[in-house]
Amino acid sequence: MTLWFETALLPGGWARDVRIVLSGARIGAIETGVAAQPGDSRHGVALSGLPDLHSHAFQRAMAGLAEAPGGAGRDDFWSWRETMYRLVGRLTPEDVLSVAAMAYCEMLEAGFTRVGEFHYLHHDADGQPYAEPARMAAAVASASAETGIALTLLPVFYAHAGFGGAAPSEAQRRFVSDLDGFARLREGCATALAGLDGAVLGTAPHSLRAVTPGELSALLALAPDGPVHIHVAEQVPEVEACLAWSGARPVRWLLDHAPVCDRWCLVHATHVEPDEVAGIVASGAVVGLCPITEANLGDGLFPAAALLDAGGKFGVGSDSNVRIDAAEELRLLEYGQRLLHRKRTVLARDDRSTGRTLFDHALAGGAQALGASPAGIAIGASADIVALAADGEGVSGDALLDRWIFARGGIESVWRGGREVVRGGRHVSRDAIAARYRRTLARLVSQ
Ligand code: ZN
Repeated sequence: MTLWFETALLPGGWARDVRIVLSGARIGAIETGVAAQPGDSRHGVALSGLPDLHSHAFQRAMAGLAEAPGGAGRDDFWSWRETMYRLVGRLTPEDVLSVAAMAYCEMLEAGFTRVGEFHYLHHDADGQPYAEPARMAAAVASASAETGIALTLLPVFYAHAGFGGAAPSEAQRRFVSDLDGFARLREGCATALAGLDGAVLGTAPHSLRAVTPGELSALLALAPDGPVHIHVAEQVPEVEACLAWSGARPVRWLLDHAPVCDRWCLVHATHVEPDEVAGIVASGAVVGLCPITEANLGDGLFPAAALLDAGGKFGVGSDSNVRIDAAEELRLLEYGQRLLHRKRTVLARDDRSTGRTLFDHALAGGAQALGASPAGIAIGASADIVALAADGEGVSGDALLDRWIFARGGIESVWRGGREVVRGGRHVSRDAIAARYRRTLARLVSQ
């Protein structure tokens, strides 16, 4: 199978008249400045697929269902979490497969070709481990296999309701494990990933709220390599509670007490001081930004311009999956910074446009965070390629990315692991996946 593009963004920059020869799941050869050959599949603009570095796939089922003010008092992250916990109580492994497949189908249609699934819904409705401890993770792996998206599975260790080892709440019963139980769960996850093309297994201490320092050390000993992801400093009350517990802010505490390095992804890191930004950059860790969800939950704005000025790395994630759109995550990231600084093109760097800078960071940072480096359209790399829909308006180079992200670009086709999974803007299995999802949602909402 050979693809031919009028133009393609390769690791070295834009090239014209590009032939990409697929060799199974990988890119076998790339030629530039050549005409299409008979039999080539011809397209307009080729980009690498982007990593979605932070997803809770099951939350797709509550998208749009938590936008009415709930009861008395303030509606914020914590009241949203109560709605999420009610949904969690009802989900079966079959539901998780159905909802995750819908989310992954939409990710592929939106230009994401690998997902980092931060997976914490482990046990049955009573909080008991399934006979097969990783039953829920296996449902996530099945959704990846059904849709074709590459999976970095991040099984979450969750043990406490607050800093200092507070006992977990009843609503958290489906998440919590002790260290022995988590070790069994992680073994089950490795089994669930066997045979899944390009799958990566990582580890995720949920947050400093949910994991004690001793447990954090034990988790890292259990997983001596692979990605490490943690939610950190998403909310001001979380920062205040961490200060009360330890005298340090959450990111500062992590940098001082954990071996944070380039295996790590600090998810959100919204509320950070300049010394914490400098510490993240020095560690080599990636910051995992989820602009749509962070806006939806009223988290706050991460100082992304300061991170780039210091030479730091970020990727983007769809987190709650309230909307799934790679271009929109990048657009909202830049717009948040524009509103904050009251300037334009805040995140453009070097001689690259804003869209190009955002895209390059999301690709490299996301791939690092998901254990899938190097990324990009290169010989030997996984054939994860997005073809933008042609707009016929004659722009070229970085302006193509700016049009896709800031204006009205669409996606025509997506190849994941060499297989065309999106054609004409639609996932090839969309109809069946969407029909099953509608049945699942109707049942969940009626319960
Ligand atoms: Zn999250």
